[in-house]
Amino acid sequence: MRASAFSFSQRLALDACTQCGQCLDVCPAVAAAGDAGLSAQMRLAGLKRLLRDQNGFWQNLLETFGAAPRVDAARLDEYGTSVFRCSLCGDCQEICPVGLPLKDLWLDVRRELAGTGHAPAKTRAIRANLEGSHNVFDEDNDERADWLDNMRKAPRNLVRRQADIVYFTGCVGAYFPLAQKIPMALVQILVNAGSDFTIMGADEWCCGFPLLGSGQPDALAEIIAHNVAEVKRRKASTVVFTCPSCLQIWKEVYTREADLDDIRLVHASELVADLVRDKALTFEEQAEDSEPLLVTYHDPCDLGRGSRVFDEPRAILSALPGVKLVEMAHHGRHSLCCGGGGNLEMIDPALSTAMARRKVEEAQATGASTIVTTCQQCVRTMTTYVRRNKLGLEVLDLTQMVAKALAQPKAPKPEDKPKAEARAAQ
Ligand code: SF4
Ligand code: SF4
Repeated sequence: MRASAFSFSQRLALDACTQCGQCLDVCPAVAAAGDAGLSAQMRLAGLKRLLRDQNGFWQNLLETFGAAPRVDAARLDEYGTSVFRCSLCGDCQEICPVGLPLKDLWLDVRRELAGTGHAPAKTRAIRANLEGSHNVFDEDNDERADWLDNMRKAPRNLVRRQADIVYFTGCVGAYFPLAQKIPMALVQILVNAGSDFTIMGADEWCCGFPLLGSGQPDALAEIIAHNVAEVKRRKASTVVFTCPSCLQIWKEVYTREADLDDIRLVHASELVADLVRDKALTFEEQAEDSEPLLVTYHDPCDLGRGSRVFDEPRAILSALPGVKLVEMAHHGRHSLCCGGGGNLEMIDPALSTAMARRKVEEAQATGASTIVTTCQQCVRTMTTYVRRNKLGLEVLDLTQMVAKALAQPKAPKPEDKPKAEARAAQ
């Protein structure tokens, strides 16, 4: 662990930690695993010890003369395993009273561990998949838009050369059967609103977020250059994402590496909130005496804490006819993580499931029949838990809720038919 791998302010942060323990209290990994060692507090202390033991002047001098290193590979491997048993949910940073920039620090620790061969071996598959096939599942990237074939009444020509809005689908939405309903729903919404949009199909590559989380950001440059060029080639003024992690890497990393000043980067919930506000969508009316559908909203870590989008999804839900929102004990800034982030599912599936269990139990306690969220990975994680345990809950993405509520186009009345035919002929 080289001290030079961290900025001066990051090294200062190690000393600034007051050991107050608030990050330990909120950490979903600590609660799910019953292991305080997974907390930011303990990891910071561990990092400080490693840096001291590996970088001290006398230690370096002694090692030059053949003394055994004080930090051996086993100690680094052990620390590496602990650092990767974290979903990068960001709640430690959100709660930290000193304001330590912990999330970037965890990413830099992962980068250093991966660069020196002390990250869990499984993380290497991520790079191999992305470099080999441009998607995280190592599928044929030419099949990235195959979900369109499963859409009933799919509009034709959705992979167009130019459009005002590019919909960046993301790997989970593109390939995972359960999550494919999310891009289908957004397409339905955009068609209903008459938006000028396109998807990029095989020209879209994985955004690269899994590389960031696995400590391999050096492989990002080619991906960023490719995706930005493809968006610009379509002359889009907006890129919309249903995946909060794709949005986050575009906003935080792509904008540093490429000129994106003229392009608006938004999450689908922000775009749909605009459409709802502008009355561009028509919803099916509900009978006045019908019971409201009780839903609870899960703030995905990368959308809420990561991109500060808290209000728009709630505004959409409150505009949907017949829907009533009930909040979970932890919501908004301190929403509990579902266990699906930070590549945790790959590194430690049992811990990821234990985190999903806490999340779903909290949702159940609200009495809601439906968990709504705004992330394909959260939908996947929570649905898997709900189905495996045969719980009577539905998990939906907000786009699916909105698409379900859209008014169906009315069949023309017999007297309107000649008018409709005349319009079609024009
Ligand atoms: S990012 Fe989340 S899971 Fe990781 S240490 Fe912080 S609170 Fe725990
Ligand atoms: S909340 Fe911040 S100051 Fe308190 S123990 Fe955690 S990292 Fe240290």
